Amino acid sequence: MTQYTVINPATEQPVTTVTHASAEETAAAIERSARAYESWRAVAPGDRGRLLRAFAAEVDAHADELAALETQNSGHPLGAASWEAGQVRDVLTYYSAAPERMTGRQIPVPGGLDVTFAEPLGVVGLIVPWNFPMPILSWGLGPALAAGNTVVAKPAEMTPLTAMRIAELALDAGLPEYVFQVLPGKGSVVGQQLVDHPAVRKIVFTGSTEVGQQIMAGCARHIKRVTLELGGKSANIVFADADIEKAAATAPYAVFDNAGQDCCARSRILVQASIIDRFMELLEPAVQGIRVGDPAAAGTEMGPLISAAHREHVASYVPEGAPVAFRGSAPDGPGFWYPPTVLAPVRTADRAYTEEIFGPVVTVTPFADEADAVALANDTPYGLSGSIWTGNVGRAIRVARGVETGNLSVNSHSSVRYWTPFGGFKQSGLGRELGPDALDAFTDTKNVFIATD
Ligand code: NAP
Ligand code: MG
Repeated sequence: MTQYTVINPATEQPVTTVTHASAEETAAAIERSARAYESWRAVAPGDRGRLLRAFAAEVDAHADELAALETQNSGHPLGAASWEAGQVRDVLTYYSAAPERMTGRQIPVPGGLDVTFAEPLGVVGLIVPWNFPMPILSWGLGPALAAGNTVVAKPAEMTPLTAMRIAELALDAGLPEYVFQVLPGKGSVVGQQLVDHPAVRKIVFTGSTEVGQQIMAGCARHIKRVTLELGGKSANIVFADADIEKAAATAPYAVFDNAGQDCCARSRILVQASIIDRFMELLEPAVQGIRVGDPAAAGTEMGPLISAAHREHVASYVPEGAPVAFRGSAPDGPGFWYPPTVLAPVRTADRAYTEEIFGPVVTVTPFADEADAVALANDTPYGLSGSIWTGNVGRAIRVARGVETGNLSVNSHSSVRYWTPFGGFKQSGLGRELGPDALDAFTDTKNVFIATD
């Protein structure tokens, strides 16, 4: 039995210990999940919806507790962690309406009646990263359960606590045993077993592109369905005709939110050359104004990084002699702190410009015109999110259609809204989560022909 000590990244102090599941325990949990599936899929749609609403209400009643737990475990500012707990409630509520709306089609054919059913898949394995433990869990969990699947979730080794608590809340809300299980453990053990076990019919994975590739290859053995949400290196494109004040004031939050540990981070700011000096003048006070510190304190905007190892990785992008234009602040003393850092000018071959840093480091690069901006934005294997700042509607639409990425916002930085589809182009992922069509990713279409002659 392996014990893992969960560390508070803001203090470096232990929070609690967690027992890791072994490969054998994971297999046993998968088999329990497969048995629970037989009855869960048969629960009447209205009852399944009611249970999901009860689950959402239970999460809502414990939102403060969940937020405090996430702040301790992940170092997220309390305000952000409260939003994240609310996201779990909202996603469960949104998909609670789905069971009663899973209509198939009636297709005209000769000699009979043809209808389709959206059938659940069976056991779904969710492999969750450490950056947004609650929201990312809920994006798979809500639609998977609504569609009639059972779920075995593996939280990231470093951030298991909120997922474990949410599994208890599911039972308190009346969900039958083993419909939703959380197994803390290592990716190489629990995650690998979810990929390898034939009774798991679908994997939803969020994390690095490298591990995503391995998971996709592993799933191929069983033609296991897979949804992948992977890395990003998204562009924030600021044209000369934009509201430059607003673009500069909001740019830091588009990349330094969650200390930059966000797959949607706009970590490459591309600015039209004619306004770049003015933009940098406005960006500096905005970056220096970010309130970095104790995530449990009111008003904190940015907390620490998740671990010492991750901080070392982030720091490797800012070596001696790196072109640091300016930096924000970070507390001294214990905690895995790293100040918001702006690199400029950055050559487009620099690894700070090409690789996902997953920390509070952003590059600023000038562009000449619209075609140059789109070419720079697309010069990456990733394609997850992005922003376009311009006062010209036609340009906004042209550039939005030109940038090869799954989620764009114009004159704002919104990416993930549970009402709308979310996912990546190119190496940022496969499939879409959230929005009205998410159940398609958790069902297979069955076609039935009934002869009338
Ligand atoms: P990761 O290694 O891809 O981990 C994501 C999840 O996959 C974790 O639960 C991890 O378990 C699990 N896992 C690891 N190896 C596995 C395997 N062989 N089979 C099945 N599951 C496995 O990501 P990371 O190491 O936490 O972060 C590395 C980089 O990935 C980051 O710096 C960032 O660039 C990127 N990332 C992107 C996102 C995103 O939202 N798209 C999220 C996180 C990270 P463990 O807990 O044992 O590691
Ligand atoms: Mg890893």
